[in-house]
Amino acid sequence: MKQNKSKPSHSTEREFGGAAGAACILVFLPLTVLVLLSVCLSEDAAVLRWPPHLPSTSHLSDPRAPPIIVLWIITHVLLYLLPLGKVSQGLVLRDGSRLKYPINGFHALCVTAVLLAVGLCVGLNLALLYELMVPLAVCAIVLAYLLSFYLYVRSFSVPAHALAPGGNTGNPVYDFFMGRELNPRIGSFDLKYFCELRPGLIGWVVLNASMLMKEVELRGAPSLSMLLVNCFQLLYVTDALWNEEAVLSTMDIVHDGFGFMLAFGDLVWVPFTYGLQAAFLVSHPHSLSPVGALGIVLLNGTGYYIFRQSNSQKNTFRRDPTHHSVAHLETIPTATGKKLLVSGWWGFVRHPNYLGDLLMALAWSLPCGFSHILPYFYVLYFGVLLVHREARDEHQCRMKYGAAWQKYCSRVPYRIVPYVY
Ligand code: NDP
Repeated sequence: MKQNKSKPSHSTEREFGGAAGAACILVFLPLTVLVLLSVCLSEDAAVLRWPPHLPSTSHLSDPRAPPIIVLWIITHVLLYLLPLGKVSQGLVLRDGSRLKYPINGFHALCVTAVLLAVGLCVGLNLALLYELMVPLAVCAIVLAYLLSFYLYVRSFSVPAHALAPGGNTGNPVYDFFMGRELNPRIGSFDLKYFCELRPGLIGWVVLNASMLMKEVELRGAPSLSMLLVNCFQLLYVTDALWNEEAVLSTMDIVHDGFGFMLAFGDLVWVPFTYGLQAAFLVSHPHSLSPVGALGIVLLNGTGYYIFRQSNSQKNTFRRDPTHHSVAHLETIPTATGKKLLVSGWWGFVRHPNYLGDLLMALAWSLPCGFSHILPYFYVLYFGVLLVHREARDEHQCRMKYGAAWQKYCSRVPYRIVPYVY
């Protein structure tokens, strides 16, 4: 992204409903996580029950949860610091510098898998995590709040060019939520980059594995539905970590400050709500026919193919437009010197990667059957998130590319789903 080298003035734009919206999210999002988990773990899993299932205060905490969360974070900090994998440079910052990032998230996943395998061999009770889901989520929420306070306070001691374009409005609630500082670091340890793909994303698949172990404990063997959900989501997380370098050019790293929005999203929302399907299957078994399973596998495969191909095509093009796999594609020049792809995946719809992601999200829910809406929470929420994210990105691209972006939009009229949206 071409960055303006001048200091950012106080930002005037407000997203997420401004300070009032941010205040609501700060309160209601953590509650939503706890209610979703409690409903999911309950026998009837009735989302429309009123009053809703709320975890009783005695179920909110457990003395075993805080040490587990602390140990988990320390393990991943150490894995981050291990001199494994290559070191990549981020995009050029406002002051002209480029930060260095270790690309070793995939190594962290592999080491975690080995540690868990060894643990299981020596009698580690992984199913315990399933039983501690609510207390673990409470600890992760506390951690996200503490981290956000630290980030907010320290952001007042950094130079103006280190602030994010969107999180320094002067309104404390809004700025606390959006994040003031773009790349907070302790020495060379990048807090936002660390949280983005490691403790939460790897935590999500470990929690999934604990649900699988709980199912084995209860019924003797994992169900086909549980295996599919675990495999699909493991593929997604493995892909994200294998392609970790691509995160360096995403909106989260390049544009957004590090505040509650990302800290909570990375440390709480992803690990504790993205795996709701697996949690649901423990108490609501669903048997799949082989034909049904094959259809779901094909849907996930199609989604993954679109997601991976389109993301790789754009990443390759941004890194080296002369690369043989993208050199033949039609492009639109822009005043910034960068070009926009207008054929290939990015000529199909304006966000083919979101389309693939949504197809996968649907495939993760279908193994739970149609008896409840709860396992479909992820695909519904994700649809809303991607529509909102698309609008944010569209706004930024319009600002960056002006007339060239208008031309791209008229050449590629559909945003995510061809002929629909
Ligand atoms: P994208 O990868 O979609 O990147 C958007 C950027 O791509 C634009 O800002 C622009 O940046 C560039 N671009 C847009 N159109 C073109 C074009 N025609 N030609 C060349 N470049 C173009 O951004 P996201 O970070 O939103 O998504 C990355 C992936 O992460 C997606 O697959 C998404 O589904 C996934 N995701 C998953 C989430 C989850 O919770 N599971 C949450 C959010 C995202 P520029 O021109 O500056 O390069």
